[in-house]
Amino acid sequence: MIKTEAFQSTTVKSASAARALLTVALLCLSFLAVGMSGAQTPVQTASVATAPMIQEPARIGAARLGDHGDKTRFVLELSRDAPFTLMPDAAGVAVEMGAALDAVLPPAKGLVKAVSVRPGAKAGHLRLILATNGPVRVQLAEIIAPRDGMPTRFVMDLAVDKAGPGTLLTPASVLTMNPPVPKEKPKPPLPMIVIDPGHGGQDPGAIAVSGHYEKDITLAMAREMRRQLLATGRYRVALTRDKDVFIPLRDRPALARAKGADLFISLHADSITGKQVRGLSIYTLSEKASDREAEMLAQRENQSDAIVGVDLSVQSADIATILIGMSQRDTMNRSRRFASLVLKHLDPNIAVLPGPLRSAGFAVLTAPDVPAILVEMGYLSHSQDAKLLGSDTHRKRMAGSLLRAVDSYFTGNAVSPRS
Ligand code: ZN
Repeated sequence: MIKTEAFQSTTVKSASAARALLTVALLCLSFLAVGMSGAQTPVQTASVATAPMIQEPARIGAARLGDHGDKTRFVLELSRDAPFTLMPDAAGVAVEMGAALDAVLPPAKGLVKAVSVRPGAKAGHLRLILATNGPVRVQLAEIIAPRDGMPTRFVMDLAVDKAGPGTLLTPASVLTMNPPVPKEKPKPPLPMIVIDPGHGGQDPGAIAVSGHYEKDITLAMAREMRRQLLATGRYRVALTRDKDVFIPLRDRPALARAKGADLFISLHADSITGKQVRGLSIYTLSEKASDREAEMLAQRENQSDAIVGVDLSVQSADIATILIGMSQRDTMNRSRRFASLVLKHLDPNIAVLPGPLRSAGFAVLTAPDVPAILVEMGYLSHSQDAKLLGSDTHRKRMAGSLLRAVDSYFTGNAVSPRS
């Protein structure tokens, strides 16, 4: 389900990119047209200065098409220089020109299957429409001054657009004649936070003294975190599971990587038999299993895969391999930095274990390139912790704390309630 989402979002992305490209292409075209008619203006102004105030409109004395194999040339003979604008047309290409037509329009030739004329958008302008056999590219469009006994001419070359159907008009080489249109830089995507609600499906995790399951508490917390993170508009959020399903531990960091996660937060709640221990702790991946307590916890959490028959010895070897690989030094440093930010921004009403920053060989923290923490939010074996973890107020508080830590991690601007 998550993989499908990823695929769909990719499709949407490229579709909107294509739209953006088309918009740019059209923009370029209108920009080019403005630039061209503008370029003609000085010539016109110069003649206005020496001519009577009311000038005769330019007249088109002849119009012809020439087939040159890979391109088709459209030529208009003019009584004098005339401003023109190019534009895409549903049928092919349109030329808007400040001129009157005295000539007969040419029959089909080459890429052009028909030439027709309509009144232009401006008074005294006409619009010549060149219906084409398929997508074309305007290679050249310019006014040529009279020379060698030839009058002023408008010349436009059309070529087949090899990009194929769907690209109506790409003024590729014409573009180079004009100042480049500044492209809007694509915004970098928002940071992707992947939240991993521990356990699920046939693996309930710890069972609270109140009877609640860890898998339900972690999912409710993940959803509240997602709500708060998305409300800021600063992040993208994905959950490794959004319902009561079993997901193997190894698949969770893999999902985070597939989502391009910038941060991975795994949520859990611990349980200890016969001990009145309570409070939150935060884990990062250990380089060495030095902390015996932590390793035992890691084993308890990693047990969830043992339930469905995954060989834990293989898992451990795998962790070792990844750790030895150790291109992940930077990732581990980032993970530790984020873990201490969580502690720093934690709501003062949330109880913490002594020495709350710990490390252990959690399988879910092993993505080599995604900073990751595992939060043991409290002890379900402790009546007060269990009660709090089931409450809305506490959930909002906890999620708010994590949000401040995430803000601080990405911007360094969050205000700590402890300071
Ligand atoms: Zn757990």
